[in-house]
Amino acid sequence: MHYPTVLLSNTNEMHIVKDEQTCICGEKYNYFSTFTRSDLRKIKFKKLDEVDCPLCKVLFKNDYQV
Ligand SMILES: [Zn+2]
Repeated sequence: MHYPTVLLSNTNEMHIVKDEQTCICGEKYNYFSTFTRSDLRKIKFKKLDEVDCPLCKVLFKNDYQV
């Protein structure tokens, strides 16, 4: 199973995407209200093992019972 993830350049960590602006842990990856083609290109589908953010992983598991 692969999930939408985004690499945040400030910490260089892979997070799981929640919506068009935020990750599951609440970190913002898109500061604009519009979602552009280049934003879409940042999103990569990866396995849960490849996600770096521990908070994203914990919250994701709680929400989706993985
Ligand atoms: Zn995160």
